[in-house]
Parts: sequence; structure tokens; C-alpha cells
Amino acid sequence: MTHHLFDLSGKRALVTGSSQGIGFGLAKGLLDAGAEVVLNGRDISKLADAAQRLGGTVKTAAFDVTDHAAARIAIDALEVELGSIDILVNNAGMQHRSPLEEFPPDAFEKLLHTNISSVFNVGQAVARHMIKRGHGKIINIASVQTALARPGIAPYTATKGAVGNLTKGMATDWARHGLQCNAIAPGYFDTPLNAALVADAEFSRWLERRTPAGRWGQIEELIGACVFLASDASSFVNGHILYVDGGITASL
Ligand code: NAP
Repeated sequence: MTHHLFDLSGKRALVTGSSQGIGFGLAKGLLDAGAEVVLNGRDISKLADAAQRLGGTVKTAAFDVTDHAAARIAIDALEVELGSIDILVNNAGMQHRSPLEEFPPDAFEKLLHTNISSVFNVGQAVARHMIKRGHGKIINIASVQTALARPGIAPYTATKGAVGNLTKGMATDWARHGLQCNAIAPGYFDTPLNAALVADAEFSRWLERRTPAGRWGQIEELIGACVFLASDASSFVNGHILYVDGGITASL
């Protein structure tokens, strides 16, 4: 039997960017821990398909996390129609790979909006309700690039560094209102975002040598960290960046 500290029964969780990949895996993990789950993404049919795969109780909310007004309207509507959002996972994100000297400025802008403005947009909209209630959990999905750079992804690295620091800022402003705001920083996981790397045998060989655990991560291996940070088990954990990376950031 699961320890009561990790039980999410009676809680409602919104996971942004959860029609596939890590977001979908975390939504499933929160559902299995007892939470009601709301999936988010921009593509309505992809969302409906994801909800169907998770089963009957799962709800969807299609909106673009880069749009501050749209996020606020969607969150306020969810609070009225479904009830309180107790757990927010700010997961939606994107990648664009290019040498920095050739990096297209529009791709840089899009990365900023998708990876960091989104955390502000949805985080602020949800926190306003959580603050009134005096409790809530916000989990931002950072990256090993919160701490370390890699060739060809400097703007992504900048956005994920910012996610780490925005997490600390959220904790600093909102802990006094009873919220816990933390981040999970995944290493390398096989998702559509990483399709180019998964297909690159040389990259996989490098990654397996570079990672102390000697392998790619499985999405299910992020669930424990997410349930911990979403549950009463983390009631005094605030502004923490929890690396789930097979030891990459621990070693040179
Ligand atoms: P993914 O497979 O590409 O999935 C991204 C999800 O975000 C999709 O559901 C996508 O759905 C949604 N999305 C993208 N832009 C959006 C927007 N503007 N508004 C709403 N939803 C949006 O990515 P992933 O690999 O699972 O990554 C998820 C998060 O983990 C990202 O923040 C990523 O940076 C981070 N991360 C991933 C890894 C990894 O190894 N994969 C490692 C470290 C960190 P729609 O396109 O339908 O909107």
C-alpha cells in the first residue's frame, strides 16, 4: 500500500503539454497516484486521443501556453467548471537545434515564449487561485541544461536556466502563501522532442558513456519525483531543482 503522504486522492492536476512525451507520462503517473488530471496542448485531436488512452475521468483544456490572456481565461474557466487546480505541472516546451552563430532570431523568440514565458503565464494564472486557498503545488520542468550547456542549443539552455531561477522566484514569493514551487530537471529521455538524437547512434554512444547510469532515461522514471513534489511528502520543500538524470550533472 502507498504511504498516505504520497496519496493524491481528491487533488486535481493540470499538466501543460501533456498530449505526448514527458507530460503524458507525468499525467498518467499523477492519475495513478489518485489525482484527477487535466491534459493541455494546442492540438485538440491529439489531446482527445491522449485523454482516451488514459481513460474516462481525464479532462482536456486546449490552449496555447505562450498566450498570457488565453492561459488566464482557460485557467479561470477550469476553476469554475471543474473546481480547484491543486497541482500545476509546467511541462510544455520545445527545442530548436542550430549553431548559435546561425540561430534564427524567430526561433530564439519562439523558444523564449514556449519554454519560459509559458511558466510565467500559466504559473501566475493558477497561483492567483492557489494563493486565495492558501495551498498549491507548482512543478516546473527544467532540464540538465538548467545547469550545463551542449553545442547547438544555447537558446534552449538559456530558457531552462531561466526556468530554474523562475522556480526559485516563485518559491520566494509564494511559499508564504502555502504554495510549494519546485522543478524537475530531466536528463535525456526518448520523446518526440529528442527524435533527432534518438536516431543518432553516435549521440547515443556519447550519452551512454557520459551518463554515470550508462543509458537513456525512461519516462516512467520521472513519475516518482513528480508525485513527491505534488504531494504532502514535500510540504517543506521549496525552490528545489530535482535532477533526474542518471548522474549527468554530478559528474564530469
Ligand atoms: P514533446 O514530446 O515535444 O512534447 C511537447 C508537448 O508540449 C506536446 O504535448 C505539445 O503539444 C505541447 N506544446 C508545445 N508547445 C505548446 C504550446 N505553445 N502550448 C501548449 N502546449 C504546447 O516534448 P518532451 O520531450 O515530452 O518535453 C517536455 C518537457 O520536458 C519540455 O519542457 C522539455 O524541454 C523538457 N525536457 C525534456 C527532456 C527529454 O529528454 N525529452 C529532457 C529535459 C527536459 P502540441 O504541439 O499539440 O501543442
